[in-house]
Amino acid sequence: MLIVDAHQDLAWNMLTFGRDYNRSATETRLQEQGSLAQAENGDTLLGWPDYQRGRVAMVFATLFCAPERRRLGEWDTQSYRTPAQARRLYSAQLDAYHRLIENHPDHFQLVDRKSRLDDVIAHWENEQHEEHPVGLVILMEGAEGIREPAELENWWQRGVRLIGPAWIGTRFCGGTHEPGPLTQQGFALLEGMADFGFTLDLSHMDEQAALQALDVYPAPIVASHANALALLKSSDSNRHLSDRVLNGLIERDGIVGLVPFNRFLIAGWSPEDGRQVVTLDRLVAQIDYVCQLAGDARHAGIGTDFDGGFGLQSAPAGIDTIADLQKLTPLLAEKGYTQNDIAAILGGNWLSLLKRTLPHQP
Ligand SMILES: [Zn+2]
Repeated sequence: MLIVDAHQDLAWNMLTFGRDYNRSATETRLQEQGSLAQAENGDTLLGWPDYQRGRVAMVFATLFCAPERRRLGEWDTQSYRTPAQARRLYSAQLDAYHRLIENHPDHFQLVDRKSRLDDVIAHWENEQHEEHPVGLVILMEGAEGIREPAELENWWQRGVRLIGPAWIGTRFCGGTHEPGPLTQQGFALLEGMADFGFTLDLSHMDEQAALQALDVYPAPIVASHANALALLKSSDSNRHLSDRVLNGLIERDGIVGLVPFNRFLIAGWSPEDGRQVVTLDRLVAQIDYVCQLAGDARHAGIGTDFDGGFGLQSAPAGIDTIADLQKLTPLLAEKGYTQNDIAAILGGNWLSLLKRTLPHQP
């Protein structure tokens, strides 16, 4: 079964720590022993050889940087004070993806149009090939790099296909830890996004803003990396999705990428608790919750957020690298999911969204 992962902050890691995702996770870990990357972001879970072993055919690769009020330390080069600075950082990350693809076309390919999606999938399905290029779909997380809606055209031309207007609160809307509605600028951004057919990513949007967006945004809507609040009852974080938002997403034919991050699987988990206490069953429960709410298996997917502020130390037991996501197959089968359902959850749902939303010509 092919896996599609709807959220990985690859460029942030490449530019912050110099991580080279052509290498295996094992190789990167060895090289990073005692390094800043390991101390600040944990042991990596990602690498091209691991994508191959795990049949991870497609990754939504993010552009992500943080406002200065959330700067992590002196070492954090990816933070901004003004929209102009954010624009430069996002742009440099996008350049980094283009360079990665140019220098390693056998490892990574840009998926910004339907024909490229078809090419990558055909390559993976052709058993004569032993190795396959991983498709990168570009997702902008926290849209502060867009100074005004008129700039959307440039981002679209350079390959961005999904945009999430929030991380913490932005000038567009309330976000994680910083609640609030869509602002006037937020409504204007959505209007501009819809003109091009950007997919809207609700992850990190405050519930109030997410519900407004579900009402007004006419183009496709997803949550690339978020979990159901109903299974995290003791959490008071607005980072998780309420049933109202989940139902809205399902009604709009959206998809949720469920996140195998221990703190998003057990409220209050911390690394001192050990990763053994968090099993993959917790992720299966999140997937199952969305499927039960929807009444089918067409709205749940995976959005790992691996290497996005956490590493091996905060991933469930049983996960050594991303390749271990294939362990979900028997677990979902035990719960009664058919092979077709499982294929949809692991990747098929994201692929059909891409088939629906990618342009024929950029
Ligand atoms: Zn995020």
